[in-house]
Order: sequence, then structure tokens, then C-alpha cells
Amino acid sequence: MDAPVRTPESLDLFVNATQQFERAQAWIDGIKDGIINFLINPKRTIHVRFPVRMDDGSIQNFHGFRVLHSDVRGPGKGGIRYHPDVTEAEVTALAAFMTWKTAVVNIPYGGGKGGVVCDPKKLSRDELRGITRRFVAELGDNIGPYTDVPAPDVYTNAQTMAWIYDTFNQLHPGENNLAVVTGKPLEIGGSLGRDEATARGSWYATEQLLRRGAVPGLESLEGARVAVQGYGNAGSIAARLFNDAGAVVVAVSDSRGGISNDEGLDPRAVLAHKEETGSVVGYPGAMPISNEDVLAHDCDILIPAALECQVRVDNANDVKAKLIVEDANGPLTAAADEILQRRNVVVLPDILANAGGVVVSYFEWVQNLENQQWDLEKVEKRLKKKMCQAVDETVDRLTELQERFKGGVNKGKSGPTLRDAALVSAIKRVATVVMQRDIWP
Ligand code: NAD
Repeated sequence: MDAPVRTPESLDLFVNATQQFERAQAWIDGIKDGIINFLINPKRTIHVRFPVRMDDGSIQNFHGFRVLHSDVRGPGKGGIRYHPDVTEAEVTALAAFMTWKTAVVNIPYGGGKGGVVCDPKKLSRDELRGITRRFVAELGDNIGPYTDVPAPDVYTNAQTMAWIYDTFNQLHPGENNLAVVTGKPLEIGGSLGRDEATARGSWYATEQLLRRGAVPGLESLEGARVAVQGYGNAGSIAARLFNDAGAVVVAVSDSRGGISNDEGLDPRAVLAHKEETGSVVGYPGAMPISNEDVLAHDCDILIPAALECQVRVDNANDVKAKLIVEDANGPLTAAADEILQRRNVVVLPDILANAGGVVVSYFEWVQNLENQQWDLEKVEKRLKKKMCQAVDETVDRLTELQERFKGGVNKGKSGPTLRDAALVSAIKRVATVVMQRDIWP
């Protein structure tokens, strides 16, 4: 019988983020406890409550958050989500992931995240505009080009970012405020390539990981069978890019269910079907399957690109993939990670796999500050370089940790993973800057 899982399972994302941090911390010496504590916990959490006039003339009150997890290496950076289930714990965990993500790919930002508790599917455009403008006004100078820079996340988009920019600009006339937010429409300072950046970055990272021989039994994407959970921005574009690189997409899903075809699905045709009908379900020439079936589908690469905590203790043993590419943030619990490690399933962790989005957000911010517009070729070339460098550093770090493990470091514990390696590099990068800047005053 398998030994019991040592990591207690929690579906609270911040607990998972802390469990991951503590695992990585075991590989790091020489950082004072006070600094570790400073690195784990958010620097600032803002709660706001504000009224909005609804279309029917009534007044509804909304609750919003903005968490600045760290600004040690630069302004906070991270999305704003609109969802009925947004909580402070979730936003705090996602802000922490952003701190480590920006450090792994070495861009000069900290980490932040925000959210408003609301159900955008039940709100009109005018109501969403009202919520966004009032939320930004309430945040005041807690966001700004050099303070904390929001971006789109679940159920916010380029239009939301345009409202954020416009509101901030009304409050700060006479300045170039474009860099206050990224993911804007192209016409007001958005970057070419931002739409595809997350999926494209995960594709570049996966190819580099395979080139480095980090996944036993999988040398390239040619003929690799891929299953994708979630068919939105990250999932549908990843399916297309992996398919175009020679992989065979055998199963995909969205919130309504999944479909599979072992001969291969055409990702563009599946997207066209989803755009026409609202779901991938019902796509002709495919078998209907459940969402759980997609995670357990017979494939080489599984790409969770939907929600948090999808692979857990109760289904981690069903995963058949050799490699999991975390396009979503936090799709695996820390306890599931431990099971997958025992089963030799390699996990390309979220803070590296989906960092392409924030890398191109950084490019947008640079273009805004310089009043430039880069062409697509330049964006993609620079994104590829960033992603490949980060993968190389992470694989090299893993080799170093494996050597130390063989030498007796962390004896009795499970060996290092790619997530540990990415986090060790990220934590060291942030901690180094804390120590160089030194404690103020
Ligand atoms: P999206 O809203 O465009 O798409 C989400 C998809 O997930 C939709 O197809 C939806 O139907 C599907 N979904 C919802 N519940 C599901 C369920 N229970 N089972 C299967 N599918 C389900 O969102 P997105 O931008 O693609 O983001 C997806 C994930 O990727 C999130 O975790 C997000 O934080 C992460 N991410 C996105 C970006 C980005 O730039 N878009 C960057 C980094 C990380």
C-alpha cells in the first residue's frame, strides 16, 4: 500500500501557496526568520465597499480587494478578477504567486492581485463600467504606474482595462498614465501579442523543457497527445499552438463538460463551435466525456487551464500524463503535487508555465513609458528568450538541488521538484534585494 500523503490537503489557495513556500524554503539557508515572514505575507491588503447605481434605479453595494503582496523588486503587478466567489484568501494567494512569477522570469515587478465580488454574467455593460470606475476611484493612489499595476484576470478584459485607465487618467490629468494598467486595447497602448502571451509562453516553456530532457519518455511535441481543461484564453490558444507544433489534441473541456477524439481534435474548429454554441460540448466527431475524464484522459501532456485545486488527493492517482503544464494558477493542491512526484509525473509549475502573460504585460508597460509600439515579431522573440532563459535556470537549479539531496540535504524528505526549483530561485532573488536594500530606517 502507498505511504500516506505527508502534506495535509487544503482547498484554500493561500494554505497551498504557504505549503509550497515552506517546501522550497527547506532548500534555502542564510535568510533570517524575520525576512522569511516578510516574504510570505502580503505587504498591504485593501478592502473597499462602494455603492453603484444599477440599471433598474436601485443601489447595490460591492466589496473589492487589492492585495500588494510585494513591491521589493518593483511595483506590484497582477490581475483584477470579477467573480462571485472572490475571497481575500484567494486574492492573497494569487498575489503571492505573482511575486514569485515575476521573480522567476526576472522582470522588475513585485506581486499584486485584486478582485470584486460580483457576478459579471448578471451585470450589464453600464453596471460593469460603474463598478470598475468606482473601484478604481476607491483604490486611489494605491494603484499607479510605479506603485501597483493591474491587468485582466477571470471575467475582466481589455474593455475593463480601458475603463481603469480612463478613470485613473481623469484623476491624474496632464500625465502619461497609460502604464497604470496592462492588457489594454491596442488603440490605447495595448501591446501586440498580449492576447496569446500566456499560452504562447507555456508552449515555448514546454518545448524548452523537453529539449532539456527534463521529462522522461517525452523528447518533443511531435505526436505528443495533449488534453486541455478549460477552453478560454489560456486553454484554447494553448491547444492551437501545441497542435501547430505537431502535438495531437485528444481531449478538451469547458465549464459545461468535455469532448475527446483519440485521432485528434481540430482546435480551431472546436473554438469556432464554442463561439457559435457557447461550449465545446456537442462538437461533431468527438465523444462526450466529463470534466473529470479530461484530467484522467490517456495522454502525454495535461494542461489545466481553468480553475484552482482541480487535481487533488482524490484524483491525482488517475492522471495518466507524463507532464502537467499549469496554465491555470494553482490547479494542483500541494498534497496532489506530492502524489504526482511519487508517480514521476513532471509538473511545469504555474509561476513558470503561465508567466508569458505577465512578461508581455511588462513589455506593454515599457512601451507605454516610452510611448513606443513594438511589432509582433519583437514581442514574440523577446517572450521566447525570457521563457527559455527561465526554464534553463529552473532546470539547472533542479540539478543543483538534486545533487544536494544526494549529498544528504533534506534527508528523509521527498526530493526536489521543478516547482521547488522555480520557487527557490524566485525566493532567493527577492530575498537578495531585501538584503541589498536593507531594512528601513
Ligand atoms: P477564461 O475565462 O478565458 O477561460 C476559462 C475557461 O475555463 C473557460 O473555457 C471556462 O468555460 C472553463 N471552465 C470554467 N470552469 C470549468 C470547469 N469546472 N471545468 C473545466 N473548464 C472550466 O480564463 P483564462 O484567462 O483562460 O484563465 C484560465 C486560467 O489561467 C486561470 O486560472 C487564470 O488565472 C490563468 N491565467 C490566465 C492568464 C491570461 O493571461 N489569460 C495568465 C496567467 C494565468
